[in-house]
Amino acid sequence: MTLTRTTCPYCGVGCGVLAGADGTIKGDPAHPANFGRLCSKGAALGETTDLDGRLLRPMVNGKTTDWDSALDLVAAKFSAAIAEYGPESVAFYASGQLLTEDYYVANKLMKGFIGAANIDTNSRLCMASSVAGHKRAFGTDTVPGTYEDLEQADLIVLVGSNLAWCHPVLYQRIAAAKESRPDLQVVNVDPRRTATTDLADLHLQIAPDGDIALFNGLLAHLANTGALDASFTAAHVNGMAETIAAARLSDPADTGLPQEDLTRFFDLFARTDKVVTVYSQGVNQSSCGTDKVNAILNCHLATGRIGRAGCGPFSVTGQPNAMGGREVGGLANMLANHLEIENADHRAAVQDFWDSPTICTKSGLKAVDLFQACADGKIKALWVMSTNPAVSLPDADSVAEAIARVPFVVTSDIIEKTDTNAIADVLLPAAGWGEKDGTVTNSERRISRQRAFLKTPGDARPDWRIISDVAARMGFGNAFAYQSPADIFAEYVALDTALSATPRDLDLSIFADVDYAEMIPTQWPRNAHRFFADGQFYHPDGKARMIAVTSPQLSKPRFALNTGRNRDQWHTMTRTGKSQRLSAHLAEPYVEIHPADAIALGAGAGTIIRVESPNGSALLRAFITDRGPRGQLFAPMHWTRQRAKRGTINSVTSAVVDPVSGQPALKSGAVTAQVYRAA
Ligand code: SF4
Repeated sequence: MTLTRTTCPYCGVGCGVLAGADGTIKGDPAHPANFGRLCSKGAALGETTDLDGRLLRPMVNGKTTDWDSALDLVAAKFSAAIAEYGPESVAFYASGQLLTEDYYVANKLMKGFIGAANIDTNSRLCMASSVAGHKRAFGTDTVPGTYEDLEQADLIVLVGSNLAWCHPVLYQRIAAAKESRPDLQVVNVDPRRTATTDLADLHLQIAPDGDIALFNGLLAHLANTGALDASFTAAHVNGMAETIAAARLSDPADTGLPQEDLTRFFDLFARTDKVVTVYSQGVNQSSCGTDKVNAILNCHLATGRIGRAGCGPFSVTGQPNAMGGREVGGLANMLANHLEIENADHRAAVQDFWDSPTICTKSGLKAVDLFQACADGKIKALWVMSTNPAVSLPDADSVAEAIARVPFVVTSDIIEKTDTNAIADVLLPAAGWGEKDGTVTNSERRISRQRAFLKTPGDARPDWRIISDVAARMGFGNAFAYQSPADIFAEYVALDTALSATPRDLDLSIFADVDYAEMIPTQWPRNAHRFFADGQFYHPDGKARMIAVTSPQLSKPRFALNTGRNRDQWHTMTRTGKSQRLSAHLAEPYVEIHPADAIALGAGAGTIIRVESPNGSALLRAFITDRGPRGQLFAPMHWTRQRAKRGTINSVTSAVVDPVSGQPALKSGAVTAQVYRAA
């Protein structure tokens, strides 16, 4: 059996996979992300590529049709909406599952040819706060480090990040490093005790949203004990005095941690030279997520723990191509190639390169606002690509109603029956993993190929081709006459070359002469490159900025609802749900509840609990555990309405967002809980 070298389609670790049409799956020993390792989800990929449930033909209003009819209709409806209501009346909602080439084409169509910026993505739910924090601190959206830094560090601080379940191969790499170097210290900052905590030397069971108080406290401690790097900050950092002054005002009590734990952590950080701070959704998915990110970055900037081997802040992305989407401008507030929509020179440069008739002039609607605009009747045509917002966004019942209000909704997907497809007018069958070619970028800026090794089923087509076909029917054929994803990648690299006079971190010159078919996993701007080693940042004066942040006012609801992932499922289970092996891990929707809270509610093992907020409710099996403290509930986000039958957890979550990044706060919503049915 011939094995094809490709990349796992699940998390942002971006593991290399050797895959065969007979279902063979092996970790790729040559891939620098995983060196042959795979987690349970990656190892089960061969069990998830069957055609059961696949969308195989275009459908209009529930009836199968041919591609030409469906594409003509989509192009006509979008063109008519734009003609009657203007370019802001249409929107794309994309996904970190899309390949970079798909993202590039969708972004180009919306921003350069339709002339609006209403293209956002489910990556908004994943890492938008990190993007915003990076831009405030560094002047651009740069992840500074590499996975090797995790193995070279002497202290790894894992903040709001259950790597053991959500980025398992990174967890395996840290576990292996710790085994070979027992002096490597790991601190786990998380309100829950998770599988990741098993690895930790110190678990800081922090209060929800206590992170700013923690890192402000750390910064104040470093300043008070003379542990700052004065020569680094004098040469390379602005804003230190006011940031430290603000940090000193934070109340340690907001962390919910005993003073002895705080002292131990602060001393450990202060005396360890090589520190990497890894963070993900527990930091990002918060109403103060961007400030949390900057509180972390402040500590690394103030001590010069950045740009060196084994040092730095490290935001790990949830999805396989959240990073690639960021690169090509797949967010409503970015242009392309790390350029700014609000910068007239940047707009002119991109428009000139695209030779486009127009270019957006202001940021578009971020995810939550985009669906609010649907509810308000402002969006007349909506295209949802490779995602299921009717169940995956917070306040999902309202989102479903909002989508239903849009006069024309098209989805492109691999699955026929999803919560969003059920309320769409047109369904376009997309090619899935193993059936299409393209690239993805992982959390350490490494671009890897996804390669086809399966026959494309039915009438399915790759997303880039579907989008290009619609663009051609809207009258933009010349600019979208791509014959292959290689053409698109070459244009993306050529755009970078055309922008070479514009200072950006994104430098793709290493790809200029690469053979697309033979491309090996490669990090931009240069393999094994670590940013900021020269102390140069991307604000106009070349310096980084520390950002003064203050702790939010913390309320104490009866129950705070934390949501997240299970080890063996991915998003809404359309693929991982096909594997019996994976589905056996945690087989039904549940809510973790502390034993004392269970007694107070009268709940026993197996009781069904109604978790409720003003938005809606879900019925979940009680999982009584002391992993989290009293007053906190945890529920996984994987079960859709169709699968759960008893409501989805995102019916309960609320659409509160971080004011800077627009990322929803999905970790500490106020809810009530009561027994619905005894076991
Ligand atoms: Fe796939 Fe992530 Fe597991 Fe690697 S760690 S095999 S990328 S799910």
